Amino acid sequence: MTIKGRQPYIAGGRLSGRYHAVGLHIHWGSKNSAGSEHSLKRFRYDAEVHIVCYSEKYKDIMEAVQHKGGIAVAAIFLAADKTGRTHIHGLSKIVDASARTPIYESNATIPGSYSLKDMIGNANLEQFYSYDGSLTTPDCRESVIWNVFSKAVLVSFDGFARLWKLRDHSGNRLINNFRTVQALNNRTVYYRIKR
Ligand SMILES: [Zn+2]
Repeated sequence: MTIKGRQPYIAGGRLSGRYHAVGLHIHWGSKNSAGSEHSLKRFRYDAEVHIVCYSEKYKDIMEAVQHKGGIAVAAIFLAADKTGRTHIHGLSKIVDASARTPIYESNATIPGSYSLKDMIGNANLEQFYSYDGSLTTPDCRESVIWNVFSKAVLVSFDGFARLWKLRDHSGNRLINNFRTVQALNNRTVYYRIKR
């Protein structure tokens, strides 16, 4: 998988051609519960970053979502680091900006420009699972090639504490924004290992 700074895209693995990155979001749990969408050997990580990309074969994401394999999502697990030593500057900036605007649909501008590499810090991109699946939000269309990196990235515990303080549109705490784990339904899950 390739990650490049200027015009971010992902490629490689089971993907044919390039997939343009269009957005990044995070799913998390709460102070008392982990919130990754995928689980590995029944273990749920604290949070999961999704980098949403669409195939260069289509003119935009709206068109790509209509086609099987039109969308690729790179998923990276986050684990809270209580030692407080870890610092991924891109991701930390997003978390910091979120904490400054803890109201639903408010915006924060993050100064500077960041490459995907900045965002995901020291993620190990060599080992990952890949399978054909669906979007995790309604209407859960089956157009996604999921690429789930098996090594979690450490993020400071303070960063997580700030995510848990965010509020939704009714002023409730925005926690546990993940979809529950789904049945495998005879899907093939591929695992890529370092040669
Ligand atoms: Zn997601």
